[in-house]
Amino acid sequence: MATVGEIAWVLGVVAWYVIRYPFERRAKRVRVVSGRRSPSDMIGLAAALFGLGILPGIYVATGFPKGADYPATVWAIVLGTIAFLAALWVFRISHKELGRNWSITLEIREQHKLISTGPYALVRHPMYTSFLLMGVGQAFLLSNWVAGLAGLVGFAVLFFLRVDKEERMMMENFGARYQAYMERTKRLVPYLY
Ligand code: SAH
Repeated sequence: MATVGEIAWVLGVVAWYVIRYPFERRAKRVRVVSGRRSPSDMIGLAAALFGLGILPGIYVATGFPKGADYPATVWAIVLGTIAFLAALWVFRISHKELGRNWSITLEIREQHKLISTGPYALVRHPMYTSFLLMGVGQAFLLSNWVAGLAGLVGFAVLFFLRVDKEERMMMENFGARYQAYMERTKRLVPYLY
């Protein structure tokens, strides 16, 4: 059963990259007007990459750290698969909606538009919502306390190092429009937070 979860996780990560790749390529062609590639943001990105990719990848490939394994169950795999599929869906629709305004770090691009439609009508950070869902999926799919929970930790480090700065940057650029947008949306979870 544990192997089924591991295979589902690997397929999920591959699908994640298939969704992301075209946006990475396109992003290179849109000029950046102002960037905030700060050390703290680089730490956040590294933490997310490590927790959601490298550490679980090592676990799936080698079984390390074995001592933290616990028995897998069918319902955990089912829940994990549902959470991961939801993550991929939210990831894809938010990439499509953000389009050329997307950046891996905090940047304002040439002719940057404030997006407030699609998933952005409900929450200000749907892409981070998808990382959160991915972390939940990983926690259920990998029956290992360390490799399973690493994704949620990595997500939390990236999110909390970044979110205030991102909203401040958007506020400086879009002023009252972003203020109004903030007043009618939540950050991550529709109607809740
Ligand atoms: N936090 C958003 C976007 C992540 S990508 C999400 O989770 O969905 C990060 C880049 O998106 C930032 O550099 C910023 O320029 C841009 N961005 C964030 N919110 C935006 C919005 N509502 N409209 C347009 N661009 C936005």
